[in-house]
Amino acid sequence: MRTTRSASSLQARRSLGQNFLVDTDILDRMESEVQQALTWSPQEQAAVLEIGPGMGALTERVLKVSSVVAVEKDPRAVAYLKEHLAIGDTTSSVGTSLTLHEADVLQCKPDELLPEAPKHLCVGNLPYNISSDFLIWFCNHKDAFTGGVFLLQKEVVERIASPVGTKAYGRITALVSLHFDVFPLFDVPPQAFRPIPKVMSSFAALRPKRFSFANETLRKTFEKTTAALFSQRRKMLRKSLQHLFKVMNIPYAENESAVEQLLQKHGVSLTDRSESLSPQGFLDLAEMFHNMSQTKTKGRGHL
Ligand code: SAM
Repeated sequence: MRTTRSASSLQARRSLGQNFLVDTDILDRMESEVQQALTWSPQEQAAVLEIGPGMGALTERVLKVSSVVAVEKDPRAVAYLKEHLAIGDTTSSVGTSLTLHEADVLQCKPDELLPEAPKHLCVGNLPYNISSDFLIWFCNHKDAFTGGVFLLQKEVVERIASPVGTKAYGRITALVSLHFDVFPLFDVPPQAFRPIPKVMSSFAALRPKRFSFANETLRKTFEKTTAALFSQRRKMLRKSLQHLFKVMNIPYAENESAVEQLLQKHGVSLTDRSESLSPQGFLDLAEMFHNMSQTKTKGRGHL
């Protein structure tokens, strides 16, 4: 294994999910995948947003092919990067530059980090402790991006790429697969990082679909629906739906046949479990709840 020079320069913090990439062969492969992803939508491509540049192992590679805007939570890493990388250097042969933001990506909106023009590619060796929250963030801000290429825990990649009906299919799968096509690219062994993590990682590409929630209330209802139904994944849908109707304060009995019809449309019955329902099925359910709540509110004269 060929390794980078910076492996021991920053004391890694577990709380920030810091496992720094040191394997240059893996970095070579990541660089070429990022280059490939930059061709997905060349007319829209403005810059790469890198999440968590750390000591810049991946940043240096991406800077060879694109301008980079990086967001890093650790002030020590920001100081390290300012010292070691040419921030704002627009004189390189490909005209690239690096802009650094010291911030928690989950607290930011893309338009606070990136130039306005058009869309950007998002990349990162993601801190594993925020991977689910980050994927939700990425779905919510999908319209700012031409796509994403991320190094994640292998288990997370398997989860977001898993088909309906499998054990790995869950809440995050339903959300991500409404927004993106997921392409697992290659696995990365623990030895490629310092410190060495306990788990395997996988590099994966996410290409956007033409989907957005019609409005924020529907997005929240979808979240509520998948959270409730997957928290009871061993129960039959009838039981978990009865519970969800109760939480939403909507009578179940008078709506059961409408629910049954909706499920039937997706080849699912009330005696199946949540993992049998496709992402589109969850969306239809959420839309049904959304409409029922609207009617209920109108009926009470709140609108
Ligand atoms: N890109 C570097 C590499 O490949 O060696 C570092 C990757 S390390 C797995 C994750 C990086 O994300 C760390 O530098 C960490 O400080 C940073 N980080 C952790 N949480 C973050 C957050 N919420 N927002 C932005 N950066 C974060």
